[in-house]
Amino acid sequence: MKIAIYPGTFDPITNGHIDIIQRATALFDKVIVAVATNPQKKPLFTAEERMDMIVHVMRNYPQVEIDQIEGLLVDYAKKRNAHAVIRGLRAISDFEFELQMALVNRKLSEQLITVFLMPHESYSYLNSSIVKELAMFGGNIKCFVPDYVVQQLRKKIK
Ligand code: ADP
Repeated sequence: MKIAIYPGTFDPITNGHIDIIQRATALFDKVIVAVATNPQKKPLFTAEERMDMIVHVMRNYPQVEIDQIEGLLVDYAKKRNAHAVIRGLRAISDFEFELQMALVNRKLSEQLITVFLMPHESYSYLNSSIVKELAMFGGNIKCFVPDYVVQQLRKKIK
């Protein structure tokens, strides 16, 4: 069984993330979406809220599991018997940081392979911060996130 981990902050999950998860399910038997509790980022949503949104929007994908990740990715991958880490590459600007992460992770665990997937071009400019900013100023975010996430954002910002 081929298992991949897709780690991220997902604050909140966007259509870009969903695009990547869907592509990953075509390659792996199981995709674990791992919600990171990154101390450097100050998320708008709690880890539980972020997980709840992913559970809700991915409920029709039996291959997808949602979990929380606290420590090192390589340790988590070993624990879960995962072969690969999935990362999304939107633009050249993602590349430098992603390359650094991939090479450090490879140094820590030679067996763990980082797989980069490109989203549909209509999501290549999308990130969670833009969605939050638009939501705060009353912009239309319906084409960027699922309806459930629109509702949760509205509730949070109120
Ligand atoms: P960010 O890196 O924007 O803070 P996350 O930590 O949630 O967001 O991202 C997790 C992974 O998802 C990263 O590999 C990131 O490049 C990828 N990702 C985020 N938004 C998109 C998108 N619109 N299209 C494709 N991949 C994306």
